[in-house]
Amino acid sequence: MQTSKAIPLPRLNGIAPTVESTALKLMEEAGELGAAISRLKGLPGIQPKDGATQEDLVLDVARELLDVAQTAITMMFVLEEQYNLNIESVLAEHLAKLRRKGYLV
Ligand SMILES: [Mg+2]
Repeated sequence: MQTSKAIPLPRLNGIAPTVESTALKLMEEAGELGAAISRLKGLPGIQPKDGATQEDLVLDVARELLDVAQTAITMMFVLEEQYNLNIESVLAEHLAKLRRKGYLV
């Protein structure tokens, strides 16, 4: 079984993100992801997409998930560049937590 996959996401250079702007964007994108999942699963309260196939709806979920991931990565760059966060150190801590909790064996 594959235990990891690198999904490289760029450091955006066409905007000047801040912790606040990326936090708000993360919430916006999380809402869009929730709506896409609701459409895929046919949950009430979300307008269905006329003529969309299941493949279309799965692609919409993946696109919104990438928006969430890109925004999270953008915030990580902000923390590194504006607050001197050591990404490698916090990533190692995160992986240790996953092992400790039994999510990664
Ligand atoms: Mg989106």
